[in-house]
Parts: sequence; structure tokens; C-alpha cells
Amino acid sequence: MAVKLQTIKDIRNYIAGELSGLYPRRESLAIAGLVTEKICRSGRLVLMLRENEPLSGSSWQKRVMSYSRRLTAGEPVQYVLGETEFYNCRIRVNRNVLIPRPETEELADIVIKENRGTEARIIDFGTGSGCLAIALAVSLPAAKVTALDISAGALKLAARNAAINNAKVDFMQADLLAASLPGLPMAGIFISNPPYVRESEKMLMRSNVLDFEPGKALFVPDSDPLRFYRAILNLSIEKLTSGGMIYFEINEAMGDAMYDLLEKFRFAEIRIIKDINGKDRFAAGRKTT
Ligand code: GLN
Repeated sequence: MAVKLQTIKDIRNYIAGELSGLYPRRESLAIAGLVTEKICRSGRLVLMLRENEPLSGSSWQKRVMSYSRRLTAGEPVQYVLGETEFYNCRIRVNRNVLIPRPETEELADIVIKENRGTEARIIDFGTGSGCLAIALAVSLPAAKVTALDISAGALKLAARNAAINNAKVDFMQADLLAASLPGLPMAGIFISNPPYVRESEKMLMRSNVLDFEPGKALFVPDSDPLRFYRAILNLSIEKLTSGGMIYFEINEAMGDAMYDLLEKFRFAEIRIIKDINGKDRFAAGRKTT
């Protein structure tokens, strides 16, 4: 190993260089920036001001090499660093859970803006890292938040994330596709970002998603791509109050099908909402029955 790293700038350039075949230049630099922030435990501005100062100690050199090895194997930077940001919350991630996506931050934003001050119970189905449930608990402090997942590993991490962010969330382990969910409370708001990528869409996905993220959190069979939404809507019959709201993140190809499904369950004020990329990404509706 002939690399000689002394300053913050050296670390950044080294990592960005190692990633040059894997990501576009700008992304490599952004990843290298996140890694240096983590290693130096400082924000971007401080690092910029000190980028030419030699770093003290030597333990960081080992960490640079170990991070760099994982990154060049294609592992997403969020898993390598063990954390990311979601709606101003620090969210720890590991390979039991999906890395929170910017679309899901948009969903959090819609739900928060439409429900300011709500005292309702909110149930998040398939919480994963807990990002949505935690962002809502923090931004809607009078609400009571319950979050479900089938994965014990995900729930353990989500509970830790709730603690890190001082968010009060009740967690429940549950299989949404099971016949019944005893113990599920009544709620005024249902939200979910369930698995929605069809198996046939796998070939369109990047290998750093396919090789590292949990397939269980992503994929649904082509024969029944809305199975999780249907399961949640079935639960809404008994567990969502009349007048209550439902919010989903959806597959961009499923806008019309979701509209029809919500109609079939007699929801009113149905909306299919586009994400910032102009794709049908969210569905919302109000229960009237
Ligand atoms: N938007 C995610 C992706 O494309 C999928 C999230 C999900 O299946 N809920 O990787």
C-alpha cells in the first residue's frame, strides 16, 4: 500500500479516485465527502476550512482503507457508514433494511403538512429502518405512532433509531399477509411504503441495490403487485376510523391500478400524487365508510 494520506483533502481525493470507475465524478466526490465527514466527525464547512491541515493520530488511516474497500465492492455508502439522514433525523441503517429514499421523504412531507397538530394514531406498515414513523413522530408530536414490520432485525434497528431521535414510537412485529393482526390499535392515519418493485423490473435496477438491499423489502410478484396495499386496505375496514386518511408510496407504473383499488375499498378524495421527478409515486384517500 503506497498511498500516503495526511490531510482531509488527501482522504477525499483518495476515496473519490478509488470510486472513479464505479460512479460519476460528482457522486464519487459526494460519497468521499460523506466518508471524510464521518472519519473526522465534523461537518462539511469545518472540513473545507481545514482540508490542508495534517490529521493527528493514525487510527483513521485504517478506517479509510476499510471504508474504501467496501465502497469499491459496490456497497452503498449509507451501509458502509451505517447511517443516513431522513427528514432531519439521523437514521442508522444496515442490511436488514432499505436505505431511505428521497421519495419517501416527500411522502413524510405530504403527511406532515396535511396533518399538522393531529392527535390521531398513525400506523406505519412495513417500517424498515423506522424512518417514516420516526419523522412523523418528531414532526407531529401530538400524534401517537405505531410501526409494524415482519423483520425482527429491522424492528431492532428501528427501535434504536427512535431512541436516537427521541421519538416515541410503538413497534409491533407482524406479517401483513397473515390472516389477522391481533393487537393492532385503531388509527386515524395509515401510511406505508411497502415492497412494490415487480420481479420483472429487477433487470432495470442497479447492482448496488440488488446485491446489498433486502429483496424482501423491495419485491412483489408480477402476478400480484398490489398485495401489500390490499392487505393494508383490508385492515383499514376495521382499524381505520371513519374519515381517516391513508397515504401510500407506490410504484410509478401503478397509479391507475392504485386509484381503482382505493375506489374499490370505497375511499373518497382519492389522489395519485407525483414525485419531484414527475412520476406517479404516492396515493392518498379518505375513508368514508
Ligand atoms: N423506490 C424503491 C426503489 O426503487 C422501492 C421502494 C419499495 O419497494 N418500497 O428501489
